[in-house]
Amino acid sequence: MASRARPGGERPAGTLDGPERGIGVMGGTFDPIHHGHLVAAEEARWQFGLERVLFVPTGQPWQKPVGVTAAEDRYLMTVIATASNPAFVVSRLEIDAPGPTYTVDTLRRLHAQLGPGYRLFFVTGADAVLQILSWKDPEEVFALAELIAATRPGHDLSGLLEAVPAAAGRVHPIRIPALAISSTDIRARVASGAPIQYLVPEGVARYIEKRGLYREPDAAGPALPADP
Ligand code: ATP
Ligand code: MG
Repeated sequence: MASRARPGGERPAGTLDGPERGIGVMGGTFDPIHHGHLVAAEEARWQFGLERVLFVPTGQPWQKPVGVTAAEDRYLMTVIATASNPAFVVSRLEIDAPGPTYTVDTLRRLHAQLGPGYRLFFVTGADAVLQILSWKDPEEVFALAELIAATRPGHDLSGLLEAVPAAAGRVHPIRIPALAISSTDIRARVASGAPIQYLVPEGVARYIEKRGLYREPDAAGPALPADP
């Protein structure tokens, strides 16, 4: 794939050569999705010439089992936030899976669904990079996907490379300007009545208001109304 120069900007870091098609995978709780997630996904898409970025909200996160908002609310906010980007797609793979889900299983399923000819790029923020060491089968994760890590300049990834030899050559740091935004902070802001406008897409802010999410610190949110 030809590399594209950005007017006035840096050249893309890792454009794909050869016939393989790149797919980004952005996993997360998305409780709620915010502009940090969206900026990281779009920058990864652009720098690596990815065909699509798949947002995969977690079903029942095994690392955050308490107080997580209903999967359906998190899924709908992710759909609202990504709807205007033609390259962004939201997957129900983990939401519809019974029980806890692991990234390694999701990546296996995605490879099985896509078939040959695709490279998967798992997009994470700086905080999640070293957490990978605590994931199920980190070696297998790196066999199935490369990692695009939205880090600060100078962020030390050497611990990861020492602990997981399979990560060598498969971790691509990118720099993005919205790293300070977090869902934890947004939930705390809603609970205390502080504004979240400009931290999340307008539609997501409206959805949070409509559903009364995050009004209590650490609350899982009100039950969803039954279908008519
Ligand atoms: P929480 O505060 O609840 O942990 P979060 O903001 O970290 O939420 P997650 O859903 O946990 O969001 O994160 C999903 C993915 O997005 C992770 O890989 C995380 O590192 C990454 N991420 C989170 N915030 C940012 C950000 N501001 N910029 C880039 N990536 C981010
Ligand atoms: Mg997080």
